[in-house]
Amino acid sequence: MRTGELFDLLRDGRPWTRAQLAEATGLARSTITARIDTLMRLGLVAPFGGARSTGGRPPALFALNPTAKLVVGVDIGATHARAALTDLNGSILGEVDTQIAVADGPEAVLSWVVQSVRDLLETSERPVTDLAAIGIGLPGPVEHSTGRPINPPIMPGWDRFDVPAYLQEKYDVPVLVDNDVNIMALGERRGHLRDVDDLVLIKVATGIGAGIVSGGVLQRGAQGTAGDLGHVRVPGADDVPCRCGNSGCLEAVAAGPALAAAVRAQGEQAETGGDVVELVRSGSRVAMGVVRQAGRDIGEVVATMVNLINPSVVVIGGQVAGAGEHLLAGIRESVYHRSLPLATEHLRIVTSRAGGEAAVLGASALAIEHVLSPDVVEAASEALAAADAAAEVAGR
Ligand SMILES: [Zn+2]
Repeated sequence: MRTGELFDLLRDGRPWTRAQLAEATGLARSTITARIDTLMRLGLVAPFGGARSTGGRPPALFALNPTAKLVVGVDIGATHARAALTDLNGSILGEVDTQIAVADGPEAVLSWVVQSVRDLLETSERPVTDLAAIGIGLPGPVEHSTGRPINPPIMPGWDRFDVPAYLQEKYDVPVLVDNDVNIMALGERRGHLRDVDDLVLIKVATGIGAGIVSGGVLQRGAQGTAGDLGHVRVPGADDVPCRCGNSGCLEAVAAGPALAAAVRAQGEQAETGGDVVELVRSGSRVAMGVVRQAGRDIGEVVATMVNLINPSVVVIGGQVAGAGEHLLAGIRESVYHRSLPLATEHLRIVTSRAGGEAAVLGASALAIEHVLSPDVVEAASEALAAADAAAEVAGR
């Protein structure tokens, strides 16, 4: 077992003794001691104070040192951007936001990110050397391995733009990029569902998409398009055209613009999904009926997902989730009707609790996962060992 994997045990935030670590890993006590020393020199692990044994000398306890390093999580939306500085537990230390159109292009938006990272560090009085990584969510398809958006429909000028390279000219740290729905799923989990290993977050806004966490791991699929629910065909909508060129897509009948159109067709005023949510809140029977039917249509597709991947929680997020129980009732109706009893026995279908914070929390979680991953910790400890060896040679 390597130092990086030993650290993986300490990441749970609980204090551990050397003896407990030796037992859990099967490593010799002397090996544990050497590796803990390395992790302490890297700043990732610190002595855990407080607990004392009865009588004898206090056992040395160790735990993750969450404030050793910082990350910045960034949420870029269609017309807004938000950045949060967090510690390695994902606790927010500072936050900034602005109104900026993603359609203004990558230089305009990313120069705001560069400035925001500097401002957040300055406000928290932390040096730039404490920054360990930056995580970013973008409102379109992203090739996660390279951090490049691929043919994003609402992001002119961004196609294949090298987002990490741009930011790394200013900050020499890893930059992790993913689409907004995936990071919302990570953020919801980190904020409110830490013990849930199998969850699906469905964002219902101008479009519809899903972020899938299975076995505790975000599932991106072969090309990063896993969870693209918006263009799954729903029954009974064959004559409804979709912006993708097909017809009968879920998005064409149940996303924000479709709901607004359905409400207008029944004589009420609405331009966006947000307007429909407002109508629901003000008691409009028409809007409630439209939202409930959208819930049933979404539920048809969710039922298939439930049968395929058996999540324990389905979280509904995005602007239209503001319609609350009216939307959930429709979704539940279809899911419980269409899914297998065993799959729905303990299934919870809920609205997002992290809400507007889900995306920055998720972007921060993406960065933290990278910084604390066994491979990255292992590389850091090897670099430290190499530096020690070089210093010894130089000192001879
Ligand atoms: Zn479509």
